[in-house]
Order: sequence, then C-alpha cells, then structure tokens
Amino acid sequence: MSIICAVCGKKQSGFIMDFPLTNELNSFRICATCEDMKNRFVKYASEKNGEAYAETHKYFENIIGQQRLSVEVNKYLHELIRSCDEEYEIKKQEELDIINLQKLKISDDELVNNFMSTTGFNFEGYKIKEYNKVICADVVLGTGFLSEFTASFADFFGVESQKFASKLDKARNIATVKLITKALDLNANAIIGLDFDYTMFKNNLLAVIVNGTAVTVEKYT
Ligand SMILES: [Zn+2]
Repeated sequence: MSIICAVCGKKQSGFIMDFPLTNELNSFRICATCEDMKNRFVKYASEKNGEAYAETHKYFENIIGQQRLSVEVNKYLHELIRSCDEEYEIKKQEELDIINLQKLKISDDELVNNFMSTTGFNFEGYKIKEYNKVICADVVLGTGFLSEFTASFADFFGVESQKFASKLDKARNIATVKLITKALDLNANAIIGLDFDYTMFKNNLLAVIVNGTAVTVEKYT
C-alpha cells in the first residue's frame, strides 16, 4: 500500500518499504528517505561529523518550516533536533578535553607526572609556604557512555566492568590534568586535599569533578 510520508509529505509507492516514525508513534508512517535521514542525523551527531551533520540538520529544519505537520510529528522533530544538538555538543566537548590532554602529554608529560599532589594535607619533607586557592575541574561524559552500562545506578558504581573502569580512569585523568593546569596558572607547585566526586545529571550524563587546594611548597632545609 502506498503511503503519504508523515514527515516530508511525499507520496511513496507501496513497492518501497515504509517505516514507523518511532516505535511508540508507529501509526505515523514515514518514507525510506526520511527514515534514512533520521538514522544518519543521529549517527552524524554521535560521530561529530560536522558537514554531514549540518546537512541532515537542515533537512529536518526545512521540513519543520515548510510542511504542515501533525502536532505529534512536529513535537517529535523538535525533540530529535534538540537531542542530536545536545549529543553533538557533548561529543565536541569530550574531544576538546581529549585534545587538550594530548597536547599536554606531548609537551608537558614530565611536568604532569612530576606534579606533586596528594589526597592528604601535607608532603613528607616539605613545608607549605602559601595556600594559593581552592580549585576545581570537571569532565562530562556523554550519553553513549552510560548506555554501554545498562546496569542499575547502584551496580554502576560497583565498577565491575573493565570498560567502565577504563573510561572513568580516562575521565579522571583529564580532570586531573585540567586541575594541574589551573594550579600552574596560579604559580602553585602542588595540590593538597585532592578529592574526586561523581555527579549524575540529566538523563545520561556523568560528571567527574575533582577539587583540591593549590599550594606552594618548599623543601625543609
Ligand atoms: Zn519522507
């Protein structure tokens, strides 16, 4: 049976397969082109493929602007664009964090490895000359991250999964590097009271937050 696509409004012959708008909104049928665009839109957002993403983005914006859509379809398309934009932004931020880390690794590896930090409040053989400032840094892990670990929130912090542990490790490293960079900007040479926090917000976002006090230390003579 031929259908009128609930998104682009074009008639599609019954020889080509049609698709539900979503599993829940399956009475709205969409054409093969719109289904393909929808899947590509989501994929490009998670791949952070800028040019291709912009193209699919435009496709749905044009449809919202030009087609007479039912309330449900209109709402769905707005939600689709919003969630893809959010995913895209998070991926961009993640990438920036990783790039910054890599930059630092290449140029300042030695410095980072040798930077003095402790969860305690002093260093053996050193005196604290100056308390510079309480500092804080965070890294946000995106939606793809949690969907890999469908376990309940309680299991989640059991840190059973190897994959989970390594991602979290990476996030902790990036956050630590950010924190050290802040300490260096303050002309501090150590961090005391290093403390990690994990906060869940929105649906699928996990923030790793690290804070500490940037200090200037000096060896006892
Ligand atoms: Zn269509």
